[in-house]
Amino acid sequence: MAAALSLASRYEKFTSGVFDGVADNLPGWSEPMSELNLQSLWFAGEFGRDFTSTDGRRIVLRDFGIWNHAAGPDFTGCALQCGDEILRGDIELDPDARDWERHGHGGNENYERVVLHLFTQAPEARMFTRTAAHREVIQVFLKPEMLREAARPRRMAEVRLGRCATPLREMESAQVASLVEAAAQFRLRRKSEKLQALSHIHGREQAVYQSLANALGYRHNQRAFTILTQRLPLKALLKHDALEREALLFGVSGFLESVRYEDTEPETRTYLRELWSRWWKQRNAYVNWLEEPNRPRWQVAGARPGNHPQRRLGAMCVMLGSWKKIFAFLRTAKAWNRKNFSTVLLALEHDYWSRHYTLKSEPATQSIALVGGTRVQEMLANVVYPLLVSERGELWAEFMEQPSMLDNQKVRRAALRLFGVDPRVRGFQKRLYQQQGLLQIYEDYCLEDDSACEGCPFPEKMKEWRT
Ligand code: SF4
Repeated sequence: MAAALSLASRYEKFTSGVFDGVADNLPGWSEPMSELNLQSLWFAGEFGRDFTSTDGRRIVLRDFGIWNHAAGPDFTGCALQCGDEILRGDIELDPDARDWERHGHGGNENYERVVLHLFTQAPEARMFTRTAAHREVIQVFLKPEMLREAARPRRMAEVRLGRCATPLREMESAQVASLVEAAAQFRLRRKSEKLQALSHIHGREQAVYQSLANALGYRHNQRAFTILTQRLPLKALLKHDALEREALLFGVSGFLESVRYEDTEPETRTYLRELWSRWWKQRNAYVNWLEEPNRPRWQVAGARPGNHPQRRLGAMCVMLGSWKKIFAFLRTAKAWNRKNFSTVLLALEHDYWSRHYTLKSEPATQSIALVGGTRVQEMLANVVYPLLVSERGELWAEFMEQPSMLDNQKVRRAALRLFGVDPRVRGFQKRLYQQQGLLQIYEDYCLEDDSACEGCPFPEKMKEWRT
């Protein structure tokens, strides 16, 4: 990857340290993050896997286990290394160290196998975690700076012209182009590292499945999709037939509980009956995940009909039906074929979801693409090329050829802040990699700056950038 992404390191050097100290004041961290999101970040390895316990011992996670859907600790079947010893058991994650006692885990035999207690807040006076049998449990205090940078909570930047627009306008096009390309390479490299870490923890196939689902959730339901795929791993789902899989995904997502037969169209009722015929037999096992606060948060308000999470979940079900074919392109970089990959995705159809936007909508008059061109581009930018360029460097050139996404609010916001009315702005957004580069600069500078551009170093720093 080093040769293919030779500009990435230059951009990293260019940007490193410009906003040092910001992690101490991460937005959203002073308010406790929801327990569900913390669990999801933990299980995705976003906090890393190498820790120091509250009593100073080195703890290395060897197996993150599985997300437990029954009563008891959050994750079961885990393994961690403490010194020379491998400890096998369960992991409990609480927002506050005191939750262990508040929730009665200390007297509950279901928690007897817990080997690690994680929390993000703790009282000043040290408190210990003990099981019903008075065994002391290792504690790890999760802190915001442990989170992988891209997973940290972010502020939103205002939609307005930035201070850098003038110096950028004065910069030669070739230099701007090279800066944008460098930022795009850096972004791809970071995504690649994340995918590799996820593959290392959960296997390549699960990492791809989770990441493709995340792309289906773009923009408001990415976390919810991630949680669903973390809870219902690929390997387990593929053991079921298509209807059983669909019933599980729609059941565990909570969507089946959210509609009443009497509010739906006849075609929907038939579809719901099919799903419920399988779901009711399994529902009891997952009831814990359907209750607050364990239910994933789906954001539906303001979503375009085509982006509704129910429809996207329908798309995911169909993708799983063709999983062997889809994953065959991603099993190794040698097997990659962009045209065929896109053709498979664009041709996916579903008896119900190819004609419905939601479980409550009336049937559409025409068939609607389940996975459209923009979704495919999202997958190319966030999953495929980050996964494969690290294994086959020449794919960077192929990535550079991909056209930009038509509809990306964040890119529009970034372009306005950085370029304003510079007539060259279109030229710097024509390709997918350029959009990725703009997003990276926007995230590294605009989202870190809290001085309304005044103290942002980018306008001065960019003068250092020479092709
Ligand atoms: S925060 Fe920095 S990079 Fe963003 S618009 Fe302002 S000056 Fe430009």
